[in-house]
Amino acid sequence: MTLPSHAAIVVIGGGIIGCSTAYHLARDHKADVVLLEQGKLTSGSTWHAAGLVGQLRSSASITRVLKYSVELYKGLEAETGLATGWKMTGCLRLATNADRWTEFQRLATTARSFGMDMALLTPAEVKKMWPLMEVGDLIGASWLPTDGQASPSDITQSLAKGARMHGAKLFEEVRVTGFDMKGGRIVAVKTNKGDIACEKVVNCAGQWARQVGVLAGINVPLQPVKHQYIITEKIDGLATDAPTIRDPDRRTYFKEEVGGLVMGGYEPNPQAWTTGDVPNDWEFRLFDDDFDHFEQHMAQAIERVPALEKVGVKQMINGPESFTPDGNFILGVAPECANMFVGAGFNAFGIASGGGAGWVLAQWVVDGEAPLDLWVVDIRRFSGMHRDRDWVRDRTLEAYGKHYTIGFPHEEYESGRPRIVSPLYDRLKGLRAVFGSKLGWERPNWFAPAGVETKDVYSMGRQNWFGPVGDEHAHVREKVGIFDQSSFAKYEMTGADASRALDWICANDVAKPVGRLTYTQLLNSRGGIEADLTVARLAEDRFYIVTGTGFRTHDFGWIRDHVPDGLDATLADVTEEFGTLSLMGPGARDVLAAVTKADVSNAAFPFGHVREIGIADATVRALRVTYVGELGWELHVPIAATRDVFDALMTAGSPHGIRPVGYRALESLRLEKGYRAWGSDITPNDTPFEAGLGWAVKLKKNTDFMGRRALEAAAGAPLKKRFAGFTVDDASVVLVGRETILREGEPVGYLTSGGFGTTLGRNIGYGYVRNADGVSDDFLRSGRYELVVAMERTPARIHLEPMFDPSNQRVKA
Ligand SMILES: Cc1cc2nc3c(=O)[nH]c(=O)nc-3n(C[C@H](O)[C@H](O)[C@H](O)COP(=O)(O)OP(=O)(O)OC[C@H]3O[C@@H](n4cnc5c(N)ncnc54)[C@H](O)[C@@H]3O)c2cc1C
Repeated sequence: MTLPSHAAIVVIGGGIIGCSTAYHLARDHKADVVLLEQGKLTSGSTWHAAGLVGQLRSSASITRVLKYSVELYKGLEAETGLATGWKMTGCLRLATNADRWTEFQRLATTARSFGMDMALLTPAEVKKMWPLMEVGDLIGASWLPTDGQASPSDITQSLAKGARMHGAKLFEEVRVTGFDMKGGRIVAVKTNKGDIACEKVVNCAGQWARQVGVLAGINVPLQPVKHQYIITEKIDGLATDAPTIRDPDRRTYFKEEVGGLVMGGYEPNPQAWTTGDVPNDWEFRLFDDDFDHFEQHMAQAIERVPALEKVGVKQMINGPESFTPDGNFILGVAPECANMFVGAGFNAFGIASGGGAGWVLAQWVVDGEAPLDLWVVDIRRFSGMHRDRDWVRDRTLEAYGKHYTIGFPHEEYESGRPRIVSPLYDRLKGLRAVFGSKLGWERPNWFAPAGVETKDVYSMGRQNWFGPVGDEHAHVREKVGIFDQSSFAKYEMTGADASRALDWICANDVAKPVGRLTYTQLLNSRGGIEADLTVARLAEDRFYIVTGTGFRTHDFGWIRDHVPDGLDATLADVTEEFGTLSLMGPGARDVLAAVTKADVSNAAFPFGHVREIGIADATVRALRVTYVGELGWELHVPIAATRDVFDALMTAGSPHGIRPVGYRALESLRLEKGYRAWGSDITPNDTPFEAGLGWAVKLKKNTDFMGRRALEAAAGAPLKKRFAGFTVDDASVVLVGRETILREGEPVGYLTSGGFGTTLGRNIGYGYVRNADGVSDDFLRSGRYELVVAMERTPARIHLEPMFDPSNQRVKA
């Protein structure tokens, strides 16, 4: 078969991800698609995968993607005639200590929140299901009966056949060597067998995806790591339908295979492969067996399954797989090139993800928009710092090493820090700040009082920062606090048509007079919330846009890519040009008035306005906004003046009791006030009406904007889900998110955020209440609510208004 000279879409890579993407592009979209594989299909990482297929993740959308894989693998043979080896064996996860058990209780609740029936079993029940297992050290196990295992090569061949049946053209032995680019877009794929003109490219090149990306100037931050498992001879008494096992406290996993066991693990001292280019001739190749390194898994596995001591090892597999700095895979359109899509970095769950990842990626390629909330895997969660290969390696190895460690709430990574610091870093450190990191920035999470170690001590219950964070919270409510939020992403849009461009991109009316600022969502074509940010009008032709630290690449790309053609509007990232100090609390005005000659009275400087004011010889952009529900200003300071302005505020604020406050108190404060967090409370899956943010949508104005049509189409129909707040009186309960919401004893949703409100003295959660027949105020208010927290029911009260309203200083019960 000769290569075509043109294809609408070229998929690079014939592993499970490329084949699944090609299959879905052909089947669902009838796309003109060509797949190019440099060797034979499956010859990269896919052929040597162990084949365990788990489904539960902490994100509802990713769980949905993985559940889709299972559905696909079940039925694929009937369509293509090629078996996938799918076996629904179920999966046992073993717990040997109390923290792990709490983790599983929360996990089982999450599973039920996502519609999966995960059970918790006693050691005796585990023994009955898996008689060869030693269960003396177990507290119990979680049991997900719908998990299973499959044959990675067979699935991939079956997907490839399906893709061909639906019209895709697959070519082996064709290597992509470069791209012809025009205006930042790919116009042709160059190969060792000729060029193919195309409209879109999907980079599914596995561990080669980074270097294939470089050919188009894009960054795919992944790191190949050596991963090993063994396959044993037949073990007497091992059932062919034995459940797969994950034994995280012993860092190992097991799967039955032709009467023997596959056993592998995630060691704390993983071995990176190259940070350079991966060789092109790595077809069906493995590394040499490394029994010395594997010994740590063997020792643990024998304790769990003593029969392993006597059985022979048929084969050891030591193969490379690409891992990423946060353990999630990488999907979506590259920020640097509008027509290169990526599906790579699968962190040893590419077989489990393959079917679903191909499904959503194909849809993304065709629509140019993610079909559901895929933020946790979106390539735009990374930034320029992820071009540093050594940093990516170190952080990735840390993430790999933590694959099976207990996932404590609020846990921070340690490697590659500090990476980016604000000018106040040393001052805040001197004030006993305990830092966390977000997109490379060190940010104060809390401040340890004298006598308390400046260190997070993680716990499944209340942590060592609970008391100090409560004090910081109370301080902001009663006096005044200062937050270093210099890591905020900041952009400027300039040009004669800047107002028109933003009017189209933003759901709220941002085309206001100079000096006004607007809180707004940016919507996708389904009316889902793609971003949540503040837009300040500095001049007729100049806007200042502020968004969350982690959303820097994503929001910038979203705005830039949606400026209508032909408009004079240029977007620039000015993040590093400004430090941001948020002065919040009832005493904020007194402090500000003491450092500036500007009139900061409410009449002269009302809420929702931006002014340039002088502080400590610097011209500061002061934005009158709040995320804590108190009087306050965000002060955007020329970066070089940040320390001087901070010092001036601290000195002038001293009589008013000013103190620095960290991000954990900020979270507690915003929970009380009911401000939504993008990525958890509001996502591309949710419309502003569902989120209770309809007031921030300019439907009454006669201008078109992105998402308007979808919102109008839905208007009038009852909302099937609505965002609501909940409080739990029982102070011993700990909310972490994803707890199930019960109304009249029936599940109606799950928490998207959870935490503790110090002023309220109660646990606070938020989430969507769902009802197929519509969610009216009456429906919401009339129910009796409970939350399922770590498998236990606890009574909860619903709140449709902010729980704390500082305008009348009244705490609403
Ligand atoms: C030891 C081991 C055990 C594993 N166990 C499991 C498991 O139990 N469950 C699970 O879900 N996952 C498991 N995995 C992970 C799984 O194997 C991978 O996530 C998955 O195979 C990744 O598929 P892929 O299509 O992204 O990459 P690959 O299979 O590597 O496919 C990428 C393809 O792109 C081709 N390519 C690269 N560059 C070019 C180019 N320039 N031109 C054309 N073609 C190119 C390559 O030749 C390759 O075939 C395991 C991995 C390892 C290493």
